[in-house]
Amino acid sequence: MTVPVAWHAMRLVFLGPPGAGKGTQAQILVGRFGARQISTGDILRRNVADGTELGKRAKAFMDAGALVPDDVIVAMMEPELGAGAAFILDGFPRTVAQAEALDAMLTRLALPLGAALQFDADREVLIERLAGRWTNPRTGRTYHTLFNPPRVAGIDDEDGGPLVQRPDDARDVVAQRLATYDAKTKPLIDYYARRGLLQRIDGLQPIEAVTADVLRALGDRAA
Ligand code: ADP
Ligand code: ADP
Repeated sequence: MTVPVAWHAMRLVFLGPPGAGKGTQAQILVGRFGARQISTGDILRRNVADGTELGKRAKAFMDAGALVPDDVIVAMMEPELGAGAAFILDGFPRTVAQAEALDAMLTRLALPLGAALQFDADREVLIERLAGRWTNPRTGRTYHTLFNPPRVAGIDDEDGGPLVQRPDDARDVVAQRLATYDAKTKPLIDYYARRGLLQRIDGLQPIEAVTADVLRALGDRAA
């Protein structure tokens, strides 16, 4: 596909199983190019922490490694999409029904998608990444004890805030999340391939190599 040079002004979907590196790569693009990351997981976790109605509805699904119902997610995303012309959707859509709702919303807003990037890695690698993941609950930034450690254990390099391990990164919940991904989200690979929007990224590589591939896939030769 042809990618406009100003790709950082594009609208992107990041697809892939938990632990594939979607959030990490989205944060890098935000830092380097000022892209806007919209992470459904981060929005949901903030609502759970604040005890909102949305958070109360979502919590049991999240704790169990299941998906929050489509109508809840679509209603949550509508105002986010309208707020700006360019964005990285990190963790949305996760079902075909969500992808269809996204298409309808973007058609209404006259904001077509630029590409859907599919990040992938082997199951054992995903499990190892999630087991060592530390997250800043305020910003959503993630680290890894081995692959991307913070300068001081438990403290975010950027804002000095505390890092926590997400309860749903526990091994048994991870197994459920991977099964949910296979059943509900994997069909989106075909969905976007059929529309000519799919770009596959090898998420097994080190973080910087993945970023280079993302930039190449999006046509940025400055990588
Ligand atoms: P996702 O958003 O897809 O669930 P994250 O970006 O949060 O995944 O990454 C999961 C964990 O793996 C984090 O601890 C992160 O630091 C680490 N990680 C991300 N990308 C890589 C990579 N390419 N190699 C090794 N570890 C990675
Ligand atoms: P990861 O990137 O590690 O898979 P997320 O932070 O994106 O995790 O999501 C955490 C949880 O939030 C999911 O297991 C699910 O319960 C819920 N969630 C996030 N995005 C969606 C979505 N688009 N549809 C339904 N549930 C979602």
